[in-house]
Amino acid sequence: MRRLFTLSLSLFIGLTTYALGQNKYDEVQITTIPVGHGIYMLQGAGGNIGVSAGEDGVFMIDDQYSPLTPKIIAAISKISDKPIRFVINTHWHGDHTGGNENLGKTDVIIVAHDNVYKRLSSDQFIKAFDSHVPAAPKAALPIISFNDKVTFHLNGLHIQARHFAPAHTDGDSMIFFKDTNIVHTGDIFFNHMYPFIDTSSGGTIYGMIEATATLLTQVDDETKIIPGHGPLANKADLQAYHDMLVRVIEILTPLAQKNISVEKATEMKPLKELDDKWGGGFFKADMFLGTVYQTIIDHGKTD
Ligand SMILES: [Zn+2]
Repeated sequence: MRRLFTLSLSLFIGLTTYALGQNKYDEVQITTIPVGHGIYMLQGAGGNIGVSAGEDGVFMIDDQYSPLTPKIIAAISKISDKPIRFVINTHWHGDHTGGNENLGKTDVIIVAHDNVYKRLSSDQFIKAFDSHVPAAPKAALPIISFNDKVTFHLNGLHIQARHFAPAHTDGDSMIFFKDTNIVHTGDIFFNHMYPFIDTSSGGTIYGMIEATATLLTQVDDETKIIPGHGPLANKADLQAYHDMLVRVIEILTPLAQKNISVEKATEMKPLKELDDKWGGGFFKADMFLGTVYQTIIDHGKTD
């Protein structure tokens, strides 16, 4: 009885929070982590934000959820008294672009890859979460979009966004702070957890493996890597993540080749050697397996 009461209470609280919308963001604190060269990583809820603060103003990478914009602006104002001039989106997902509309209504210029513009400006469906996402309002859309790379020259830095072909989605960019040995990976890299791979937005684990392999050739032991999710990372963290993705393909491909169904494969717990270390993120082990397994099956058909 008591258990039932607790259960219905938490259900009630859950529903109330849902009904009130932004309540769940009330408790969120923004943490600012200095990375060097006037660059910071901000954590709150949603994707990690990158900030360059300097004499020319503030340059932002991603902007989390819309109810957090005032807190994010307050955190940035402790770093810089200059205005926010640019925000670049690493991809279109709402935990990275939710603040766009608030920022876009001010003088902030929003920049992103062409496919981010396309997906934000039309209705989307994320299969993994059975989630319909309506087109974003005009103020939330990038004013500038690019097809391959774009470089910003400000704050004494050359900040280059480079598109990586289908990885977490079909619109991913990684942002390189040239000459500083700092990079923001967007959701191509989830540090210490299985990644969400949005196959309904053109994402694929093969692209994630390729993009992280490319990045590994461009970093060294001193590189500071701001991941899309998880704590600030280094090359060893990135290597471990890349190796995990490769191992997942190694383990699952033979099962798919034997035409074992995704349900049966999930029951077999083939990733148990990895689940303890990587299964603690928001994308649960079984969901991760299901997504990757389907990609392997589809990949086999096109080979
Ligand atoms: Zn994402």
